Amino acid sequence: MQIYLDNNATTQPPEEVIEAACQAMREHWGNPSSVHRLGQQAKHCIELAREKICALLHCRERELVFTSGATESNNAAMIGLLEARTPRKTIFTTGIEHSAIREPCVRLAERGYNLVILPVDTSGLVDLDALHDALTKHGDDVAFVSIHYINNEIGVIQPLEQIGNICRDAGVPYFSDMTQAVGKVPINLNSLPVDVASFASHKFHGPKGSGGLYIRSRFKIVPQQIGGPHERDRRAGTENTPGIAGMGVAADLAQKFLASSGPKRCEALRDKLERGLLEAYEGAVVNAADAPRIWNTCNIAFPPLLSEAILILLSEKGICAAAGSACSSGSMEPSTVLAQMGVPREVAMASLRLSLCRYTTEQEIDTALQIIPTTLERVQSSMPANA
Ligand code: PLP
Repeated sequence: MQIYLDNNATTQPPEEVIEAACQAMREHWGNPSSVHRLGQQAKHCIELAREKICALLHCRERELVFTSGATESNNAAMIGLLEARTPRKTIFTTGIEHSAIREPCVRLAERGYNLVILPVDTSGLVDLDALHDALTKHGDDVAFVSIHYINNEIGVIQPLEQIGNICRDAGVPYFSDMTQAVGKVPINLNSLPVDVASFASHKFHGPKGSGGLYIRSRFKIVPQQIGGPHERDRRAGTENTPGIAGMGVAADLAQKFLASSGPKRCEALRDKLERGLLEAYEGAVVNAADAPRIWNTCNIAFPPLLSEAILILLSEKGICAAAGSACSSGSMEPSTVLAQMGVPREVAMASLRLSLCRYTTEQEIDTALQIIPTTLERVQSSMPANA
């Protein structure tokens, strides 16, 4: 038995996606840049996928650049924007971004760029007044603003439109890491005030190693992968045809899901899980409970139990979950996101992330609601009496 509640780390590709990727490998293995028939078949396969992904995101085909995933897209966006907007040296971001934003920012600060970390409130929402005031203060030196859409740990949805409108008023480009949003919530890039956005296919049931970078028409960022003329000279390197083909099918399936009652059904399951755990464990706390949150994420703490201990026992019982973000699990430091929100250390160290997907069933949630409470009791009983 396995109950997978770690969908913010990665998602399972369904048969349709696997089949599309395999077919691309088997049949469309030509180099998409080659002029002969095999090459052109591969190119066609890529362009069909591009159509599907652009339909999901409501953007133009020329606005989408295929990459190896969100980390590459994030790096390319930030460094590319800085180079395009030389000599501006100030970058705006928050302290609760994914490490694929945070770490490049640290590197850029070491290289002499000026980093402005905007505060978030206790719900994890960015302070819009602080953004507005800081933009006024730093004026012409701001190269770009980088604020994600949906948080990977707590599922909080940032007020994207308001952020984008503040950036527009200030004449500053807005780049958003949309990795946890694409395929899970409706996105219309044509109408949103966002100039650059990143995502990864494996977060919405597509293959790993493929993702994208949206760059608004007539918007300039300097390419970071230099070589051939692929992707309209914006990202050199032979395209990952199987990954892209699989991502196209994943985008199609996501669009169908978003048009259905699926998100509502999943939200009800997440709420059931959350309610059940709050009832089962005295002192349980849902992090960011009052903020607007995506339907799939539950970040819940069981103080004073350590989340790492809970995770190991849950894994033995067949439940896959996470403590903080997947990339930082294994470390015994509290999650940066929770720390930035002012969550007390004891609560942060006891926090578990349970993330659902569109294939999660009610039966799985019911079983999780039996297993998790007994696991908590086991952890509790193994703690020293005075702990
Ligand atoms: N950005 C966010 C918000 C994420 O959740 C992740 C992955 O967890 C990434 C970026 C990095 O994605 P990848 O490892 O696929 O490059």
